[in-house]
Amino acid sequence: MFDKEFIEKQKESLEKEKKDLERLLSEFATKDKEDGDNWKTNYTNIDPEEVDPEEEANEVEEFVDLLPQEYTLEIKLKNVNESLEKIEKGTYGICESCGRMILEERLEANPSAKKCLECLDL
Ligand SMILES: [Zn+2]
Repeated sequence: MFDKEFIEKQKESLEKEKKDLERLLSEFATKDKEDGDNWKTNYTNIDPEEVDPEEEANEVEEFVDLLPQEYTLEIKLKNVNESLEKIEKGTYGICESCGRMILEERLEANPSAKKCLECLDL
């Protein structure tokens, strides 16, 4: 098992990452009220009477551009939350594929890593 100091340090990094991700997400998405892990991209409400068609098209394009970014950030945030849960449960750093401990150096570089390097290569 890892020592307490290492776990504390990882927890700090994960919480910092969580804040950063939530801040990035909140710039263009809203947290789902019913499902706290889910984020919805804001779609600017346009009054069809007032907007010229070209401007509306730009708005839609922008929305489509944001979706993959929102998705990536949401996945990252989910991983971070799962890692924080594992710290609480005392299962942090265990490879999800083979059940062995993930190397400290690997976890330092990527605190939300789920698999050891050997399993990642498969
Ligand atoms: Zn493994």
